[in-house]
Amino acid sequence: MEKYLHVALEKLKEADYGEARFVRITSQDVTVRNGRLESVSESVEEGIGVRAVVGGSIGFAATNRVLIDEVVKASERALAYAKASYKALGKTKPFLSEPRHEGEYRTEVGVDPFTVPVDRKIDLLMKVDEILAKDPKIVLRTGSLHFRKIEKVFVNSEGSFLKQTIYMTGGGYTAYAFVDGVLAHRSYPAPHGGNHLQAGWEFIEEMDFLRYADQIREEAIMFAKADTLKEEMETTLVLGTHQMILQIHESVGHPLELDRAIGYEASYAGTSFARIENLGKLRYGSPLMNIVADATLKRGLGTFGWDDEGVEAQRVDLIREGILVGYLSSRDSAWAIGLNRSGGMARASGFNRMPMVRMTNVYLLPGEGTLDDILSEIKDGVYMDLNKSWSIDQRRLNFQFSTEVAYRIRNGKLAEPLRNVIYYGITPEFWGSMYALAGKDEWKLWGLPHCGKGEPGQSMDTGHGASPAAFRKVRVGSTA
Ligand SMILES: [Zn+2]
Repeated sequence: MEKYLHVALEKLKEADYGEARFVRITSQDVTVRNGRLESVSESVEEGIGVRAVVGGSIGFAATNRVLIDEVVKASERALAYAKASYKALGKTKPFLSEPRHEGEYRTEVGVDPFTVPVDRKIDLLMKVDEILAKDPKIVLRTGSLHFRKIEKVFVNSEGSFLKQTIYMTGGGYTAYAFVDGVLAHRSYPAPHGGNHLQAGWEFIEEMDFLRYADQIREEAIMFAKADTLKEEMETTLVLGTHQMILQIHESVGHPLELDRAIGYEASYAGTSFARIENLGKLRYGSPLMNIVADATLKRGLGTFGWDDEGVEAQRVDLIREGILVGYLSSRDSAWAIGLNRSGGMARASGFNRMPMVRMTNVYLLPGEGTLDDILSEIKDGVYMDLNKSWSIDQRRLNFQFSTEVAYRIRNGKLAEPLRNVIYYGITPEFWGSMYALAGKDEWKLWGLPHCGKGEPGQSMDTGHGASPAAFRKVRVGSTA
């Protein structure tokens, strides 16, 4: 493999910077629906992507045919695109350098999930399905397991030579209850395909699907029978960890992608209200809010040794005590906020995609105490968790989220369940109202494997973590 990559580099000699990246992605997905195996899909995609930089302008080309001739042609195309782009622009743009690195990164895996027989995976999902099916009010049952192995070899003109092997393991299940014309669902451990970590099969065993299936079935029925909020109100809102991480992903992660903030990128998730001239000044949230982007976090879905530009994994502060102090950055964007080194957040979803600024593991540092401590001080409020849907404007400012789970909080305790609850907010105002944040014992790591960005689109694995938190005076209503 190295031979092909070095041939590519050789062809990029005229460029100011060149890199070549081999990527092979092996995937397996198993899906069960209503007691029947819906699909087992397995795929392998591989190829080489080449990037040339001339005067700061980037040219990219890729080939899925790992043959010397094809690699040479891809390199020539990448170089030609970079030159043409530089000529069209008529000026030089910054592209930051990085020290030379050599090494290997591998996800620590207990059991390689690809060595576990498919029958065992199907069997687990079927057993869950049997438990969910015990009540005929459950009208739809789905379960799935997802495994991915990503192998990368990277070389660049700075002399770096990097090998990485990353495993992603995840899954979950959902029960849909239909009671008196009302449909509601509950999932474990979360909706949107469950939870995903950089781990092996042991993570599936840790999640212990069977243990929670009875509870999930009963709660689906309970929420289908639950009342909606009669009227919109402004109240104390407590969010569980899964909804917290969606809130972080949408209202902190995306707006702090530096390419978005400086106007390079607007596809999919829009631009950003968090303008770079406000760096170090913008009050993003309350002093309890400390958010980092950390590509070194053990088991995080956004963890690696080096990003897809050969920049070392880093932990970067984004929000410190509520103030905006950093962005997610890459070699061609970090200069915009005065940095002389990329933050190491340029990632590509495959060999045939250009690296772009992506979230790594963007998480909220824990506070103190427990969720029970927080609840015990609330006379009247609403608790919500497990994201169902979201909507946020193009500048990542006005948002609304609904969740699978909601309860009224009365006199310090969770009281009656509520159905179809939604909350609304404006990013800095909402985060500014966070007045309590639970401690590290209740901090939970989640993986979101399908963050979309770019054109052509790239689906990326991002990691997030949070503890439960409480917010004052949030507008809460009903979706129906
Ligand atoms: Zn996203």
